Amino acid sequence: MNPIFQKFISVHGTQFSVIFFAGIFFITWNLENVIGIFIDYKKWRHAFLNAPFIFTNIPGQLLMGWIFAKVILWTGMHHFGFLYLLPLQHSPLLLFVITFTFLDFGEYLYHVIMHKVSRLWMFHLVHHSDPIMDVSTTLREHPGENLIRLSFTLVWVLLSGATIWVLILRQIIQTFFTTFSHMNYRLPSKTDAVIGSIFVTPNLHRVHHHYQQPFTDSNYGDVLSIWDRLFGTLSRLPEEDLVFGVDTHMSASENGNFKSLLKMPFGKYRRKK
Ligand SMILES: [Zn+2]
Ligand SMILES: [Zn+2]
Repeated sequence: MNPIFQKFISVHGTQFSVIFFAGIFFITWNLENVIGIFIDYKKWRHAFLNAPFIFTNIPGQLLMGWIFAKVILWTGMHHFGFLYLLPLQHSPLLLFVITFTFLDFGEYLYHVIMHKVSRLWMFHLVHHSDPIMDVSTTLREHPGENLIRLSFTLVWVLLSGATIWVLILRQIIQTFFTTFSHMNYRLPSKTDAVIGSIFVTPNLHRVHHHYQQPFTDSNYGDVLSIWDRLFGTLSRLPEEDLVFGVDTHMSASENGNFKSLLKMPFGKYRRKK
Protein backbone atom coordinates (compact mmCIF):
# COMPACT_ATOMS: atom_id res chain seq x y z
CA MET A 1 0.00 0.00 0.00
CA ASN A 2 1.87 3.02 -1.20
CA PRO A 3 1.62 6.51 0.33
CA ILE A 4 -0.41 7.85 -2.64
CA PHE A 5 -3.06 5.18 -2.04
CA GLN A 6 -3.09 5.94 1.70
CA LYS A 7 -3.49 9.68 0.99
CA PHE A 8 -6.27 9.04 -1.55
CA ILE A 9 -8.19 6.90 0.96
CA SER A 10 -7.68 9.49 3.73
CA VAL A 11 -9.01 12.36 1.58
CA HIS A 12 -11.71 10.70 -0.54
CA GLY A 13 -12.41 7.57 1.49
CA THR A 14 -15.61 8.74 3.18
CA GLN A 15 -17.32 9.63 -0.11
CA PHE A 16 -15.96 6.43 -1.65
CA SER A 17 -17.32 4.27 1.19
CA VAL A 18 -20.81 5.78 0.80
CA ILE A 19 -20.74 5.13 -2.97
CA PHE A 20 -19.34 1.65 -2.31
CA PHE A 21 -22.18 0.89 0.10
CA ALA A 22 -24.81 2.07 -2.42
CA GLY A 23 -23.13 -0.03 -5.13
CA ILE A 24 -22.83 -3.20 -3.08
CA PHE A 25 -26.41 -2.81 -1.86
CA PHE A 26 -27.66 -2.38 -5.44
CA ILE A 27 -25.72 -5.45 -6.66
CA THR A 28 -26.75 -7.76 -3.78
CA TRP A 29 -30.37 -6.56 -3.92
CA ASN A 30 -30.58 -7.50 -7.61
CA LEU A 31 -28.61 -10.72 -7.13
CA GLU A 32 -31.19 -11.80 -4.55
CA ASN A 33 -33.84 -11.62 -7.25
CA VAL A 34 -31.92 -14.30 -9.15
CA ILE A 35 -30.33 -16.49 -6.48
CA GLY A 36 -32.53 -15.73 -3.44
CA ILE A 37 -33.73 -18.62 -1.27
CA PHE A 38 -37.11 -17.05 -0.39
CA ILE A 39 -38.85 -15.29 -3.20
CA ASP A 40 -42.36 -15.57 -1.79
CA TYR A 41 -42.40 -12.33 0.22
CA LYS A 42 -42.97 -8.63 -0.37
CA LYS A 43 -39.36 -7.55 -0.90
CA TRP A 44 -40.12 -3.86 -1.49
CA ARG A 45 -42.46 -3.60 1.50
CA HIS A 46 -39.80 -5.27 3.65
CA ALA A 47 -37.16 -2.83 2.40
CA PHE A 48 -39.44 0.17 3.03
CA LEU A 49 -39.79 -0.91 6.67
CA ASN A 50 -36.00 -1.12 7.18
CA ALA A 51 -34.86 1.80 4.98
CA PRO A 52 -36.03 4.66 7.32
CA PHE A 53 -33.25 3.63 9.72
CA ILE A 54 -30.80 5.19 7.24
CA PHE A 55 -32.34 8.57 8.06
CA THR A 56 -32.80 8.11 11.83
CA ASN A 57 -29.11 7.17 12.09
CA ILE A 58 -27.76 10.18 10.17
CA PRO A 59 -27.64 12.66 13.15
CA GLY A 60 -25.77 10.16 15.34
CA GLN A 61 -23.37 9.29 12.54
CA LEU A 62 -22.58 12.95 11.84
CA LEU A 63 -21.98 13.60 15.54
CA MET A 64 -19.81 10.50 15.95
CA GLY A 65 -17.97 11.24 12.68
CA TRP A 66 -17.00 14.64 14.13
CA ILE A 67 -15.85 13.04 17.42
CA PHE A 68 -13.90 10.33 15.53
CA ALA A 69 -12.08 13.01 13.50
CA LYS A 70 -11.06 14.85 16.69
CA VAL A 71 -9.91 11.64 18.42
CA ILE A 72 -7.88 10.44 15.41
CA LEU A 73 -6.25 13.86 15.12
CA TRP A 74 -5.36 13.75 18.82
CA THR A 75 -3.97 10.18 18.79
CA GLY A 76 -1.96 11.06 15.66
CA MET A 77 -0.49 14.20 17.26
CA HIS A 78 0.40 12.49 20.53
CA HIS A 79 1.28 9.08 19.06
CA PHE A 80 -1.25 7.60 21.46
CA GLY A 81 -2.27 3.93 21.13
CA PHE A 82 -0.51 0.57 21.18
CA LEU A 83 0.11 0.60 17.42
CA TYR A 84 2.65 3.39 17.90
CA LEU A 85 4.63 1.04 20.16
CA LEU A 86 5.05 -1.52 17.36
CA PRO A 87 7.69 -1.14 14.61
CA LEU A 88 5.14 -0.82 11.81
CA GLN A 89 6.03 2.56 10.28
CA HIS A 90 7.56 0.92 7.20
CA SER A 91 5.06 -1.89 6.74
CA PRO A 92 1.60 -0.39 6.05
CA LEU A 93 0.18 -3.79 5.04
CA LEU A 94 1.11 -5.31 8.39
CA LEU A 95 -0.19 -2.20 10.14
CA PHE A 96 -3.50 -2.63 8.33
CA VAL A 97 -3.77 -6.37 9.13
CA ILE A 98 -3.00 -5.87 12.84
CA THR A 99 -5.40 -2.91 13.20
CA PHE A 100 -8.12 -4.73 11.27
CA THR A 101 -7.78 -7.88 13.40
CA PHE A 102 -7.80 -5.86 16.64
CA LEU A 103 -10.89 -3.85 15.64
CA ASP A 104 -12.69 -6.95 14.40
CA PHE A 105 -12.08 -8.60 17.77
CA GLY A 106 -13.57 -5.43 19.27
CA GLU A 107 -16.69 -5.91 17.11
CA TYR A 108 -16.97 -9.52 18.33
CA LEU A 109 -16.76 -8.44 21.99
CA TYR A 110 -19.22 -5.62 21.39
CA HIS A 111 -21.69 -8.05 19.82
CA VAL A 112 -21.42 -10.51 22.74
CA ILE A 113 -22.03 -7.65 25.21
CA MET A 114 -25.10 -6.49 23.23
CA HIS A 115 -26.55 -10.00 23.60
CA LYS A 116 -25.63 -10.57 27.25
CA VAL A 117 -26.55 -7.24 28.89
CA SER A 118 -30.34 -7.12 28.94
CA ARG A 119 -30.61 -3.30 28.70
CA LEU A 120 -28.34 -3.29 25.63
CA TRP A 121 -30.02 -6.35 24.12
CA MET A 122 -33.26 -4.33 23.94
CA PHE A 123 -31.55 -2.04 21.40
CA HIS A 124 -29.87 -4.85 19.45
CA LEU A 125 -33.17 -6.76 19.48
CA VAL A 126 -34.51 -4.37 16.83
CA HIS A 127 -32.01 -5.77 14.32
CA HIS A 128 -32.85 -9.35 15.30
CA SER A 129 -36.62 -8.85 15.27
CA ASP A 130 -36.72 -8.95 11.46
CA PRO A 131 -38.80 -12.02 10.52
CA ILE A 132 -37.35 -11.94 6.99
CA MET A 133 -33.66 -11.85 6.25
CA ASP A 134 -32.28 -10.10 3.19
CA VAL A 135 -29.86 -7.25 2.44
CA SER A 136 -32.28 -4.62 3.79
CA THR A 137 -31.93 -6.25 7.25
CA THR A 138 -28.42 -4.71 7.21
CA LEU A 139 -30.08 -1.28 7.51
CA ARG A 140 -32.25 -2.26 10.48
CA GLU A 141 -30.31 -0.77 13.37
CA HIS A 142 -31.95 1.34 16.07
CA PRO A 143 -30.39 4.86 16.34
CA GLY A 144 -29.64 4.04 19.98
CA GLU A 145 -27.64 0.96 18.98
CA ASN A 146 -25.92 2.96 16.25
CA LEU A 147 -24.62 5.41 18.88
CA ILE A 148 -23.63 2.62 21.29
CA ARG A 149 -21.78 0.72 18.53
CA LEU A 150 -19.86 3.77 17.32
CA SER A 151 -18.96 4.69 20.93
CA PHE A 152 -17.50 1.20 21.44
CA THR A 153 -15.54 1.51 18.19
CA LEU A 154 -14.25 4.89 19.36
CA VAL A 155 -12.76 3.27 22.47
CA TRP A 156 -10.95 0.66 20.31
CA VAL A 157 -9.69 3.38 17.98
CA LEU A 158 -8.39 5.36 20.97
CA LEU A 159 -6.67 2.30 22.46
CA SER A 160 -5.06 1.31 19.17
CA GLY A 161 -4.25 4.71 17.66
CA ALA A 162 -5.66 3.55 14.30
CA THR A 163 -5.06 5.96 11.41
CA ILE A 164 -7.78 7.37 9.17
CA TRP A 165 -6.83 5.48 5.98
CA VAL A 166 -6.81 2.16 7.87
CA LEU A 167 -10.23 2.90 9.38
CA ILE A 168 -11.81 3.86 6.07
CA LEU A 169 -10.36 0.87 4.22
CA ARG A 170 -11.59 -1.36 7.04
CA GLN A 171 -15.04 0.19 6.83
CA ILE A 172 -15.22 -0.61 3.11
CA ILE A 173 -14.33 -4.27 3.76
CA GLN A 174 -16.77 -4.37 6.69
CA THR A 175 -19.56 -2.94 4.50
CA PHE A 176 -19.00 -5.69 1.97
CA PHE A 177 -19.12 -8.50 4.54
CA THR A 178 -22.07 -7.11 6.52
CA THR A 179 -24.18 -6.76 3.38
CA PHE A 180 -23.05 -10.11 2.02
CA SER A 181 -23.75 -11.95 5.30
CA HIS A 182 -27.35 -10.65 5.42
CA MET A 183 -28.17 -11.77 1.88
CA ASN A 184 -31.17 -13.97 1.17
CA TYR A 185 -28.70 -16.55 -0.05
CA ARG A 186 -26.60 -19.46 1.12
CA LEU A 187 -23.20 -20.45 -0.24
CA PRO A 188 -22.79 -24.06 -1.45
CA SER A 189 -21.55 -26.06 1.57
CA LYS A 190 -18.07 -26.75 0.17
CA THR A 191 -17.48 -23.06 -0.64
CA ASP A 192 -18.85 -22.13 2.78
CA ALA A 193 -16.47 -24.57 4.47
CA VAL A 194 -13.52 -22.76 2.86
CA ILE A 195 -14.62 -19.10 3.09
CA GLY A 196 -16.40 -19.61 6.42
CA SER A 197 -13.25 -20.94 8.07
CA ILE A 198 -11.94 -17.36 8.14
CA PHE A 199 -14.79 -15.02 7.20
CA VAL A 200 -18.44 -14.62 8.22
CA THR A 201 -20.70 -16.01 5.48
CA PRO A 202 -24.48 -15.77 5.00
CA ASN A 203 -24.64 -19.42 6.11
CA LEU A 204 -23.16 -18.48 9.50
CA HIS A 205 -24.99 -15.18 10.03
CA ARG A 206 -28.37 -16.69 9.13
CA VAL A 207 -27.98 -19.02 12.14
CA HIS A 208 -27.33 -15.94 14.33
CA HIS A 209 -30.74 -14.63 13.19
CA HIS A 210 -32.55 -17.87 14.18
CA TYR A 211 -35.45 -17.02 16.53
CA GLN A 212 -34.48 -19.31 19.40
CA GLN A 213 -31.60 -20.03 21.72
CA PRO A 214 -28.89 -21.22 21.78
CA PHE A 215 -28.56 -20.18 18.14
CA THR A 216 -29.34 -16.46 18.61
CA ASP A 217 -26.37 -16.32 20.98
CA SER A 218 -23.86 -17.79 18.54
CA ASN A 219 -21.88 -16.71 15.45
CA TYR A 220 -21.16 -13.20 16.76
CA GLY A 221 -18.37 -12.51 14.24
CA ASP A 222 -18.46 -9.32 12.17
CA VAL A 223 -15.99 -9.93 9.33
CA LEU A 224 -13.82 -12.74 10.74
CA SER A 225 -15.36 -15.99 11.97
CA ILE A 226 -12.14 -16.97 13.77
CA TRP A 227 -13.30 -15.44 17.10
CA ASP A 228 -16.34 -17.73 17.22
CA ARG A 229 -14.09 -20.73 16.62
CA LEU A 230 -11.62 -19.52 19.25
CA PHE A 231 -14.24 -18.87 21.94
CA GLY A 232 -16.56 -21.78 21.12
CA THR A 233 -19.53 -19.68 19.98
CA LEU A 234 -19.79 -21.08 16.45
CA SER A 235 -22.91 -23.00 15.48
CA ARG A 236 -24.55 -24.32 12.33
CA LEU A 237 -28.14 -25.15 11.40
CA PRO A 238 -29.57 -26.50 8.15
CA GLU A 239 -31.57 -23.99 6.13
CA GLU A 240 -34.86 -25.90 6.58
CA ASP A 241 -34.65 -25.47 10.39
CA LEU A 242 -34.13 -21.70 10.29
CA VAL A 243 -36.84 -19.31 11.49
CA PHE A 244 -35.86 -15.64 11.58
CA GLY A 245 -36.79 -13.18 14.33
CA VAL A 246 -36.75 -13.37 18.14
CA ASP A 247 -39.14 -15.70 19.96
CA THR A 248 -40.24 -12.91 22.36
CA HIS A 249 -41.20 -10.50 19.54
CA MET A 250 -42.76 -12.58 16.78
CA SER A 251 -46.00 -10.65 16.29
CA ALA A 252 -46.29 -8.24 13.36
CA SER A 253 -47.66 -5.56 15.71
CA GLU A 254 -44.22 -5.56 17.39
CA ASN A 255 -41.81 -6.18 14.54
CA GLY A 256 -43.79 -5.03 11.51
CA ASN A 257 -44.00 -1.25 11.76
CA PHE A 258 -41.39 1.43 12.09
CA LYS A 259 -42.94 3.20 15.08
CA SER A 260 -43.01 -0.01 17.17
CA LEU A 261 -39.40 -0.73 16.17
CA LEU A 262 -38.29 2.70 17.42
CA LYS A 263 -40.12 2.11 20.72
CA MET A 264 -38.95 -1.52 21.08
CA PRO A 265 -35.86 -0.84 23.30
CA PHE A 266 -38.03 0.95 25.84
CA GLY A 267 -40.55 -1.89 26.17
CA LYS A 268 -40.57 -4.57 28.84
CA TYR A 269 -37.57 -6.90 28.77
CA ARG A 270 -38.60 -10.47 28.05
CA ARG A 271 -36.05 -13.25 28.23
CA LYS A 272 -35.20 -15.15 25.04
CA LYS A 273 -36.46 -18.72 25.42
ZN1 LIG B 1 -26.77 -10.15 17.25
ZN1 LIG C 1 -27.46 -9.42 11.44
